[in-house]
Amino acid sequence: MRKSELYRRVIEYFEQAMPVAETELHYGSPFQLLVAVVLSAQCTDKRVNMVTPALFAAYPTAEAMAQASEEDIFSYIHSVSYPNNKSHHLAGLSRMLVEEFGGEVPDDRDQLQRLPGVGRKTANVVEAVYFDRPAMPVDTHVFRVANRIGLTINSKTPLQTERELVKYIPEQLLPKAHHWLILHGRYVCQARKPKCGECGLTEVCCFFRRQETGDKKTGDKEIRRIGGKETEDKEIRRTGGKETGDKETRRMGDKETGDKETRRKEVKGAV
Ligand code: SF4
Repeated sequence: MRKSELYRRVIEYFEQAMPVAETELHYGSPFQLLVAVVLSAQCTDKRVNMVTPALFAAYPTAEAMAQASEEDIFSYIHSVSYPNNKSHHLAGLSRMLVEEFGGEVPDDRDQLQRLPGVGRKTANVVEAVYFDRPAMPVDTHVFRVANRIGLTINSKTPLQTERELVKYIPEQLLPKAHHWLILHGRYVCQARKPKCGECGLTEVCCFFRRQETGDKKTGDKEIRRIGGKETEDKEIRRTGGKETGDKETRRMGDKETGDKETRRKEVKGAV
């Protein structure tokens, strides 16, 4: 099947199966969305939504959070992953927003990426979700689902995946398509065990076809590569080599969680 035909059929399916597709993060302003997205790096939206009501009640704006110390912020977010780094980022980005952007979240991706803790994925989420710009943030779900369906072939990094998806998906659909792929990955095409029996894409999905035609070796390898939290981390490292993997983690939304030393300490402290 030609790639353009594959994209057409996948879009047609999601238009019908998921006419409404939105972020599951709770927020009330662009600043709160930015904070929630920073918190969601390597963490579930569900967990983030558990901590943000109290955090936003205490610090609803950049001005309010800029007054807080890292320790203050930590006390609200200690149950998310990497709370030390994230407290540091939130304190830093709030101050920079106040000092350089009048307390407003910029709507430009390059400006967004200047903020502490904001990588390409986080900036793209804010662009797509709040400003409805034609952006395609690539997280682990988007990366995996696009690869399984065959929307991307041999993509090694989130950036390659982003470029491929942006090339084929009509601009006006990009913000919604981002949610289609995330939600599909979260609830149907799950990492460890995709629910192909509940999926309407079996006729076009490369992964499913390989399974059906008995290419079990390839399929099993793919499940291992994209299955489970621990193996997902490995996948990220494999996509770009050890060093690139750290950079990639930063690109996927948290500039400094790639720091091994900090990561080790935080994982220890977070458990
Ligand atoms: S058919 Fe299976 S592998 Fe393919 S997209 Fe659907 S759930 Fe994922």
